[in-house]
Amino acid sequence: RPAPAPAPLATSRRPSRRIMVGPVPVGDGAPVSVQSMTTTPTADVNATLQQIAELTAAGCQIVRVAVPSQDDADALPVIARKARIPVIADIHFQPRYVFAAIDAGCAAVRVNPGNIKKFDDKVGQIARAAADAGVPIRIGVNAGSLDPRLLARHGTATPEALVESALWECSLFEEHGFTDLKLSVKHHDPRVMIAAYRQLAARCDYPLHLGVTEAGPLLQGTVKSAVAFGVLLAEGIGDTVRVSLSAPPVEEIKVGRQILQALGLQERTLEIVSCPSCGRAQVDVYRLTEQVSAAFDGFPIPLRVAVMGCVVNGPGEAREADLGVASGNGKGQIFVKGQVVATVPESQIVDALIEEALKLADAGAED
Ligand code: SF4
Repeated sequence: RPAPAPAPLATSRRPSRRIMVGPVPVGDGAPVSVQSMTTTPTADVNATLQQIAELTAAGCQIVRVAVPSQDDADALPVIARKARIPVIADIHFQPRYVFAAIDAGCAAVRVNPGNIKKFDDKVGQIARAAADAGVPIRIGVNAGSLDPRLLARHGTATPEALVESALWECSLFEEHGFTDLKLSVKHHDPRVMIAAYRQLAARCDYPLHLGVTEAGPLLQGTVKSAVAFGVLLAEGIGDTVRVSLSAPPVEEIKVGRQILQALGLQERTLEIVSCPSCGRAQVDVYRLTEQVSAAFDGFPIPLRVAVMGCVVNGPGEAREADLGVASGNGKGQIFVKGQVVATVPESQIVDALIEEALKLADAGAED
């Protein structure tokens, strides 16, 4: 029989307040959710809604849109109403767009204290408007736009400076009785970012949004984010995540979900256990793995599928998976739940796996 799934890595999540981003609970043990940000001009309503739909289909749970101009602010009511997931308005520089976003029905607003110079004297009004509308606010501190006063004091964007900025901004809202907050302290260096989040986690009970900012292109950004999120989430720190990539935002969602699934914090949809191939391989493992990944993309039930190149580790891994193939001599032994059910030529392996997967899905539907 396949081995039972191991427990999630973190033994317990960091206790925190809970906020609601639209219908999505964040903090206080709620499932860690995956976010991304649209890359279309927000004022282009159709393009933005189209991208939000693609992100939603990929598993995005909360989406952020940039609001750099009045045209973008004007587009928010339609976007907030038509998107199927909660929309957060991302606002730098202009407090008046915060009010527009709240009025537009956005699920939350992200502000960056370093970039809102005339923010301090508006906090009371923002707190009142947000409280009246039940809209939480994320205070998003970024190393690249740290408040100049803190930069001068700390010399550079140290973990202490990032945390001080976030907590100082919180205190402004707290003075007005507003605590419906989520915080982030992003840095491009995972070591600084990890240190900052650890300090922040110890010094407040607000939910935390994790991000390695400007993490870079797909491979580098994936590795940086996986390392940083892995460390923090394994310590129970983090309530939402955004993988920042110089790549289409759907990739951010795929990577974010893979990280959560690898940590046992989100149910696996599809897991491919495939070998790296070596001189013993008796089929083209790379091609077979690609074909299996493509064939099972979006499969309606969660599955672990093993694709193994020879009999050294093949039968063992194939037996542990829901479905598997152990190859040898240009043929594949097809395993289902630990049992060999067929032996087929290499050209028929993918079809045979799909056929067996459909039987599993049918059996599951009948349970
Ligand atoms: Fe090599 Fe076989 Fe292991 Fe694949 S399963 S890496 S082909 S020894």
